[in-house]
Order: sequence, then C-alpha cells, then structure tokens
Amino acid sequence: EAQKESHGFQTEAKQLLHLMIHSLYSNKEIFLRELVSNASDAADKLRFESLSNPELLSDDTDLRIRIEFDQEEGTLTISDNGIGMSRDEVIENLGTIARSGTSAFMQQLTGDQQKDAHLIGQFGVGFYSAFIVADKVGVFTRRAGLNADQGVYWECHGEAEYSVETVEWAQRGTRVVLHLKDEAKEFADSWRLRSIIKKYSDHIAIPVEMLKEEAPATEEGEEQKEEKAPEFEAVNAAQALWTRPRSEVKSEEYKEFYKHISHDFDDPLIWSHNRVEGKQDYTSLLYIPARAPFDLYQRDAARGLKLYVQRTFIMDDAEQFLPLYLRFVKGVLDSNDLPLNVSREILQQDRNTDAIKSALTKRVLDMLDKLAKKDGDQYQKLWDLFGNVLKEGPAEDFSNKEKIAKLLRFASTRADTEKQDQSLEDYVGRMKDGQKAIYYVCADNFATAKSSPYLEVFRKKGIEVLLLTDQVDEWFVGHMNEFDGKQFQDVAKGALDLGEAESEEDKAEHEKVVQESGALVERVQGVLDGSVESVRATTRLVDSPACLVVSEQDMGPQMRRILEQAGQ
Ligand code: ADP
Ligand code: MG
Repeated sequence: EAQKESHGFQTEAKQLLHLMIHSLYSNKEIFLRELVSNASDAADKLRFESLSNPELLSDDTDLRIRIEFDQEEGTLTISDNGIGMSRDEVIENLGTIARSGTSAFMQQLTGDQQKDAHLIGQFGVGFYSAFIVADKVGVFTRRAGLNADQGVYWECHGEAEYSVETVEWAQRGTRVVLHLKDEAKEFADSWRLRSIIKKYSDHIAIPVEMLKEEAPATEEGEEQKEEKAPEFEAVNAAQALWTRPRSEVKSEEYKEFYKHISHDFDDPLIWSHNRVEGKQDYTSLLYIPARAPFDLYQRDAARGLKLYVQRTFIMDDAEQFLPLYLRFVKGVLDSNDLPLNVSREILQQDRNTDAIKSALTKRVLDMLDKLAKKDGDQYQKLWDLFGNVLKEGPAEDFSNKEKIAKLLRFASTRADTEKQDQSLEDYVGRMKDGQKAIYYVCADNFATAKSSPYLEVFRKKGIEVLLLTDQVDEWFVGHMNEFDGKQFQDVAKGALDLGEAESEEDKAEHEKVVQESGALVERVQGVLDGSVESVRATTRLVDSPACLVVSEQDMGPQMRRILEQAGQ
C-alpha cells in the first residue's frame, strides 16, 4: 500500500477547483489565510484529542504554524504540528467535498465569473484556494499517534487527478508545499508574507512563525554563524481574539476572525462580544453574516457555535446554544463552567447549556433590536436575508415572542409594495380609532394578496392590512395570536367585525343589504347546497360580486396546502 496511487477527483471537487482558480483570481492572497486557518484548526483538533489521549502530543507540545519560502525554487511552505491526516483522511478531505447540499450548490453556478465568485465565497473553498497561486501542490502529513512509516504524500497539479503515497515522515502534522505559478512568485517574499499574515491571521491563537530576519553581519565569525539553527519568530499576535478586551480589538480584526470561523469570504454585518462573569462564566462572540448561506433552509445543514472550554477547542457547530430560528448566527462560545470532556450528549443534559442558550438568545435579539433602531437600512438588509427564519421564532420560542414580534417586518396595503419594511409597532401606531385587530391577508404570492377581494372594504375605509405571502406566514401568525394586546385577524375568515371603526352608517347599510338580498341569498344557498357551509350578504366587497370566506376555526388555504403536500 506504500505504492503511489492516482485518484480522480470527485466531480464536484473538480468543478470547484476549476472555478476557484478562475474566479477568485482577483483576490489571490486569501489562499494564505485559508491554509493558516486549516493549520490552526489542526492544532485545535490535536489539543482536543490530547485531552483524552495525552501521548498524542509526545514531547512536541508547543503547537505552532510555520511559513517558509524559497525564492530560487519558487516554493512556499505552510507547516503545522497539529493533528495531521492518515492516508484515508487525506483522500477523504482533499479529494472530496463532504458537505451536504454540494451538488445543489453546484447547480446554482452560472458560468458568469463574478456571480460564481460570489457564490463560491458563500460556499467556502478552503484548501483548494492553494491552486489560485500554485500549479503544483504537495502535502506531506502524518496523523498524530501514527508511526513515522505512516506518513502520506499527496500531490496534485491542479488538474483532474491527484496521487497519494505512503512515505516515511518524521514529524507529526502537515506540511503544504506550494509550487508558485510564475505570476504568483511575488509571494516568495518575507515582507509580503508578513503583511498578509498580519492582515488576515493576526488573531490565530497559536504562533504563526517565520524565519527571523537576518541580522546585519556582526563581528561574529562566519563559522559561528553557520552553526546556528534557523531561528523562528511569531509574526502574529498569537492570542485568541475573544480573550482580548473589546476596547483593544479593531473592527478589521473582528472581521478577519469571522472569516476564520465561518468559512465566509465576506465581512459580517454586525457582531457582539461579551464576557459574562458570576453565576455563569463565559465569553461569547456572535456574528450576523451579511449574506445567507446556500443551505439556510436545509434541515441537516451545519449550524451553531464553535465551542471552547477554558480556551481549548471542543467542537464545531455546537447547536445547543441557540434556537433554530437564529441558526444564521455564527460565533464562538468559550465556557469556564462546562467540563473539558463535554460531548454533544452531555451538553444536552447540562444545566449550564440552557442558561447560556437563553442568555445568548436574548443577546442576539437585543443586537438585532439595536441595529433596527440605529440603522434601518442595515436592518432591512438583515431582514431581507433572514426574516423568513426569524418568523419561525414565535412558534419555537414562546418566552421571547414579544421581542421577536418587534423585529418583524411586513408588506402592507399602506405602501402596496412587496418590500417587507413595516413593523408591527408602525402598524399599531397607524390603526384607526376604534380598530381592535391587526388585519392580514395570506396568499401564495404578492399579486394575489394585493388584489384579494377581501381587501376591498379595508381599502375603502382606509384600514391597513398586512400582506403575508411567505410559506411560513400562516403558521407564524397562528402562533403570534396578538401583538400589543391586539389580535391578529385574517380578513378572509369568519364574519367581519371592524369594531368601532365601523360607523353607524356602515351598520345601517349592512342591515339594509341583508334585508334586500334575503331572497337572492336563499337561492344561491339552494344552488350551492352541500358545497359551502353558508351564504351571507356582506358589505365587505366593493367591486367584486362574491367571495369565499373560511370560517374562524378553519385552516387557511395556505396551511391547508402545506398539510396536503405533507400527505395529511
Ligand atoms: P474546511 O477547513 O472548511 O473544513 P478545507 O477545504 O479548508 O475545508 O479543508 C478540508 C479538510 O482538509 C479539513 O476539514 C481538514 O480535515 C483537512 N485539512 C486541511 N488542512 C489540514 C491540516 N493542515 N491539517 C490537518 N487536516 C487538514
Ligand atoms: Mg479550511
């Protein structure tokens, strides 16, 4: 099995690689951030595994990342003494893309480079970004705990194939060797590399080292100088970013840290960094992304926070600390209360988990509320991305219903546009004297909602109606029930009581209509017998001759369709 094997890339990996090389070219230098980010993850994983298996660290306990270059060879090397990879892991991790939804993502690609570059950033590309600057990439690696004869060498020329062979490899960890393309030789340069590390990787918690700059020649003899082993120095700050005081962290640093933990290529929209002491002792750093991940509505998509216990990495995607309707939030939680040997199962039962979850939920809702008050445009952007997810909130999180309600935005008959930009507070502030309910209409799409015959009387009387056209809406109002003491009322349901907003004249007119149309109602009732529950005369229509109304207790048409689809 030592022999060299060639493998073809998984189709998706091949496509991604191709796109990578062509569409992210304008932002070449990010390859270094990605490789350093992987090396740092590898150190985290080793620390974690060594909690239960201390021998893994052996006598090589100072975890670090090293960056070296050779100008003559045109190579750049990124090495770490982290967890490393076995032969199988190399094939699995560097030859395939294991994320769920990958092929769905691939189908969205358009062939338009700019659009695709954006999409690809959203997907996160990681290791393959090496091929932006290299035409050949070699990876030497050895899994912690395996012997020196279990090293692996992986090599790829950025085309359809890669090769793997088992080799002798003295050190634990991974060494990535980039053979730079002619037009990327600029990266074999100390100053350039140092500034890129500073820019993107300063927050990495372990040292990112480079060879010490040669001191100018001293009196020391030539012989002495040759004997000295090469000396490395840290180029980054090498302190976990969230452990630093807020006042000392620059927003650029927060942004780069976000990219490290989220695999997003774009800056986040906002973040909130907090140290909590007392009954609970933890630090959280929570981010709201500036775009939706491609798998936001995929049930099995990874979500949650990166969990650390006393600064030791424990797991990615700890989903126990935020509710599902805040699944778009990214970030880090570092707890001092949880045990180091915490697992997903233990988390589910630990009473610290619920306390932290409820605190973090409030933290996020407050962060959103603050943004809504401070910067309407930014908040609108957030709503357009994640509004539909937030609308799952009232059903999932009863205790925060009020807070969530304030964050919701709707389209309404006031502006009669599709833009969801009206808050419930705005609506209530505009309610007519005597109006008791918050009126809404549900429909499959905006055009249908807007031209609903049920709206006629409301338009005539100048009463605003919310236009609900998202899949989740009917379900959501069902759980909302009321806001600020006002019931939600479906305009298509039951008898219409406009409350005191109805004038005496209106009531008199209604009486008159009922009397005059008695005979007609009876005839229609006879014709439709069995197909409808009852026929009524109404003043709720202005231009349309008739409409169907669902009784108060019945499901609305959207809800009915959802259940039908689910086979109920
Ligand atoms: P991601 O970091 O988002 O998982 P990458 O494409 O950057 O995706 O890396 C793919 C996988 O390859 C990683 O998840 C990891 O398992 C493995 N890997 C990459 N670099 C290293 C490294 N330096 N040490 C150990 N494993 C690595
Ligand atoms: Mg990565």
